[in-house]
Amino acid sequence: MEKIINDCPIIYSKNNTNTSLIESAVAYIKLAQKERINVIWLETSGCSGNIISLLNAEAPDVYYLLKEMINLKFSNSLMVVEGEKAYEKFLETLDTKFILIVEGAVSTKDNGLYNIIAKYKGRPITGMEAVQMAGEKAEYIICAGTCSSFGGISAASPNPAKNKSVDEFLNKEVIKVPGCPSHPDWVIGTIAHIILIGKPELDSKSRPIIFYGITIHDNCPRRSYFDKGIFAKQLGDKECMFKLGCRGPVTKTDCPTRKWNSYVNWPIGNNATCIGCAQERFPDGMEPFIR
Ligand code: SF4
Repeated sequence: MEKIINDCPIIYSKNNTNTSLIESAVAYIKLAQKERINVIWLETSGCSGNIISLLNAEAPDVYYLLKEMINLKFSNSLMVVEGEKAYEKFLETLDTKFILIVEGAVSTKDNGLYNIIAKYKGRPITGMEAVQMAGEKAEYIICAGTCSSFGGISAASPNPAKNKSVDEFLNKEVIKVPGCPSHPDWVIGTIAHIILIGKPELDSKSRPIIFYGITIHDNCPRRSYFDKGIFAKQLGDKECMFKLGCRGPVTKTDCPTRKWNSYVNWPIGNNATCIGCAQERFPDGMEPFIR
């Protein structure tokens, strides 16, 4: 039985990423007497929903992440210092070994002036400039959320600020952890993997397979209705919501088993269609969300 469970990637990831992987990473840091790795978390053009989602982490929680796993050197939302002193922390970290985490797309119109993240010595620092500076030097770049991964809502039509995904802007390899927002386990699990083993195995869209290996449809509790051609007629019906516009068949995440908000529920479990928020071309290519 144990072998069957461990051979199923979706169950394996749910059971292991938040427990053994993270515990092993922390044990490794202590055993090898390693410094916790420096992290810059940049919020660029987006809603900052991913850092909010991170604060909702539970296994482990953010306190554990900050105390045992990483040195969060710069974060627009979480750091204590402000203004120029905060930006100086960003600059100092560029000369160290660090992971860059970006949430939000990169605004490129008018040299990035639609997204200012700091003001330094009288000069506005754009998100675009910060991503460029940190992206060139980072050991790993993690895109937290769909905007930094694929452009997302920030790059939705008509995209007046010419927002781009991080890899489209930097033309450099990134690890994409999409979701609107990204699940805290996906972000922390990816960091733990980097600390312990290095870059996780990625799929053709640069997503860690441990979290994005299977479509929602493949693991949906309503799948038997789909297979029998029995479909919900309105929201609230218990059958498959394919004909109401569910995007589970094209969306790859482990939401059905991991669930959200302290692992309590998830959209389909709450009678809402999957809107494909973790997928490329969200939101334009996923509309209408409900038919
Ligand atoms: S509700 Fe959506 S994900 Fe679930 S079986 Fe139906 S189409 Fe697939």
